[in-house]
Amino acid sequence: MKLTIIGSTGSFPGPGSPASCYLLTAHDGTRPWRILMDLGSGSLGVLQRYMDLKDIDAIFISHLHPDHCMDLCGLHVAVHWDPAGWGRDRILVWGPAATGDRMADAYGLPRDPGMHEDFDFRAFTPRETVKVGPFKVTPYPVRHPVDEAYALRVEATEKLYGETATSVLTYSGDTDSCDGLVEAAHEADLFLCEAAFQEGRDDAIDGVHLTGKRAGEAARAADVERLLLTHIPVWTDEATVLEEARGEYDGELAVAVSGVTYGVRTGNRLEAPKTSSMSRIPVSLAEALRKAGGQRDQVLGG
Ligand SMILES: [Zn+2]
Ligand SMILES: [Zn+2]
Repeated sequence: MKLTIIGSTGSFPGPGSPASCYLLTAHDGTRPWRILMDLGSGSLGVLQRYMDLKDIDAIFISHLHPDHCMDLCGLHVAVHWDPAGWGRDRILVWGPAATGDRMADAYGLPRDPGMHEDFDFRAFTPRETVKVGPFKVTPYPVRHPVDEAYALRVEATEKLYGETATSVLTYSGDTDSCDGLVEAAHEADLFLCEAAFQEGRDDAIDGVHLTGKRAGEAARAADVERLLLTHIPVWTDEATVLEEARGEYDGELAVAVSGVTYGVRTGNRLEAPKTSSMSRIPVSLAEALRKAGGQRDQVLGG
C-alpha cells in the first residue's frame, strides 16, 4: 500500500498544502485500487496532480468538519456536470450518517436528491469493517466535538511479485487522547496522526486535538512501526510538535509533507511531489521533450 499526502495542513488550507486529504493505493493483482481518506478544503485541485478523478474507488470521511469533507461539493460538480458525461458508477462515500444531508446543505441543494445521484453515501457502523478491493477499512470512534468522529484503520493485502503482503495504516482523523485511537493504531506499520496543538499553549483544551506529546504517547501505547505527524495548522510549529512526540516515542518519526508518496510498510519516500506546471504538460509533449534530450526550443519550434 502506498500513501500520498494530498493535504496535511490542519483546520484550514495553508500556503503550502490543502486541508486533510490522503490517497491510498493498493494492487489486487488485477489493477491498482485508489481510496481517499477525507477530502478537505482545497484538496480536490492538488489531488488531480496525482490521479484522474474517475479512478476514485471510494472515499472515507473521518468526520464532518469542513477541513475534512468540504471538497465533496467540488467533486459533486465534477461528476454531475461533466460535459462528456461522468461515465462511471456513483462514487462510494463512507462516513458519518449525516454526510449526505450536510453536503446538500453546504451546497444549498434540496436534501432529496441532494448529491445522491453522484455519490453512494454509506454510514459507518463503529468497528465494523468495510471492504473495497484489496482494502479493509475499520472506523474507531474517537474524541472530538462532533456527533461522529472516527480514526480509520486500513489494512491492504496485495499480491506483488509473487508475494502476498498485508500492510496496515492508521489515520487518527481529529481526536484528543482516547482508547479508541490506541486500539485503531495497534501495531500499525504507519500511524498517520494529527498533532494540531502545542504543549504549554493548547494543552488545557480537553477533547479536541492532540499535541505532539499526546500523539507520541498514542504511538508508543499502540506500538506502531513509524509515526507521521499531520494536521498541523499554520499557527503550530512543526519542529515543536516533532520534538514533543520524540520525547514520548522513539520509533521512526517525521512530519507529513503534501505531495510526497510513502511506502506504508517500508516508510520510504517513493515519489517526489509533482508541481502544478509539470502536471499540465501533455504526455505526448513530455515524451517528445525527453527524446529530444532537453532541446526544448527545437521541439516546440517544430
Ligand atoms: Zn481538522
Ligand atoms: Zn475536526
